[in-house]
Amino acid sequence: MTTVQAAPGAIDAIGETTCPARSTDPSAKPSWSDLYREVVGTDVCAGCGACVVACPRKVLDYSATGTRPYQTDDESGPAGCRFGDVGCDVCTRVCARFRPDQAALEVGRFGRARRPEEVVGTELDRVVLRAVGGGGQDGGLVTAMLAWAMRTGRVDGAVVSRHDPEQPWRNLPVVVTDPDEVLTTAGSRYTYSRNLLMLQDAPPKLRLAFVGLPCQVAGLVKGQSSGLKRFRPVVLSIALMCSETFEEDAFLHGLLEGKFGLDLGRITKVNVKGRLLVHTDQSLDHVAEGRIPDSKATVGEGNVLQIPLREVRPTVRPQCGSCTDFAGEWADLSAGGVGMDGWTMAVVRTPIAAEWVSAMIDAQVLVAKPADELAEASALLERLAAKQRDRRLQPG
Ligand SMILES: Cc1cc2nc3c(=O)[nH]c(=O)nc-3n(C[C@H](O)[C@H](O)[C@H](O)COP(=O)(O)OP(=O)(O)OC[C@H]3O[C@@H](n4cnc5c(N)ncnc54)[C@H](O)[C@@H]3O)c2cc1C
Ligand code: SF4
Ligand code: SF4
Repeated sequence: MTTVQAAPGAIDAIGETTCPARSTDPSAKPSWSDLYREVVGTDVCAGCGACVVACPRKVLDYSATGTRPYQTDDESGPAGCRFGDVGCDVCTRVCARFRPDQAALEVGRFGRARRPEEVVGTELDRVVLRAVGGGGQDGGLVTAMLAWAMRTGRVDGAVVSRHDPEQPWRNLPVVVTDPDEVLTTAGSRYTYSRNLLMLQDAPPKLRLAFVGLPCQVAGLVKGQSSGLKRFRPVVLSIALMCSETFEEDAFLHGLLEGKFGLDLGRITKVNVKGRLLVHTDQSLDHVAEGRIPDSKATVGEGNVLQIPLREVRPTVRPQCGSCTDFAGEWADLSAGGVGMDGWTMAVVRTPIAAEWVSAMIDAQVLVAKPADELAEASALLERLAAKQRDRRLQPG
């Protein structure tokens, strides 16, 4: 446990926003105790980590295996914060799930609130893309964009996730500054990677692209709209479309290793296309011969284990059950496979993302599918986004 000492009268230099040691009217501001009661202590908390990054007193933490932030100062107890008691409201200002005001955030971010029919959020363009040279989970757009942006000097690095070299398929956040190294981080891992925490210690002068799940990009954008210095290095955010992530132990060790007897080190790709698809070079005869109890899993062409989603559902993180944002509505650009093979759907939301996509097509780093071939994937995107928006942010 970290114990911090209050410094009466001191003001921390965390951007323009500071955590005051004294407030004339503390009751006027919400603080950690409100965030704890309304969000953290319920299933509303996405575990995005924005509050941990933002906390100027560094009394919030997030354990490597945990799913939520916690308050580390013994003196205050988990549900309280003595800095909040004297007027600090910083954690509440960066939490996208604390008393959300969607229209105000949209006006600040995109210059206007969405129209009711805009079920995937505010957008400038929708385009299906593939990286020339391939690679990646779907069309390889995301990785190609990061490498190109570094090579052309638009950013110095990128926040992404990568495989833990010690434990196959364990997901770790990382800041990469080498365009060749970023290629090794391509592909989707379906457990939660705490990418936002990388902003805690990123050198402030780095210009970064940020890749994350919709809940993480929401925290990032809320942090940026609050003017906090730690969120400022990010010049472009990419959200990966997302309906759920899985708990590491239950998914990797309980389901894949335990129930299906897979060697995690031999899995080459995991994807979700109506079913969970696990590509491996190990024999799947035990599945094909029906030796997995209580399972309707099958083996598809190319030695792909196909697991019905209802068998995977028990490993879903509880926080995802109340998430309404499939399409990454706060990002500069959102990317998803939406049922396609070898192509990435990009929802372009801001002028900077539009400029990057157009420059990459001109430079022949990306190719775009003709607009008249978008209809099926576009319809699926809208269905998935609308379905997820029907979920409610419910304290669990
Ligand atoms: C947990 C999860 C759930 C998803 N669910 C859907 C879905 O339901 N429908 C859909 O259409 N698309 C979904 N996607 C997005 C899809 O899998 C692809 O990431 C997207 O289409 C981009 O493909 P690409 O080939 O352009 O990306 P790539 O070039 O392969 O780049 C992928 C990037 O994502 C980063 N990354 C990988 N895993 C994670 C992670 N867990 N957290 C944060 N960053 C990560 C990598 O480091 C890399 O930078 C999901 C992705 C993830 C990670
Ligand atoms: S900022 Fe993120 S981690 Fe913190 S309380 Fe809000 S949702 Fe949870
Ligand atoms: S479903 Fe929502 S809460 Fe869960 S990981 Fe995806 S974006 Fe985050």
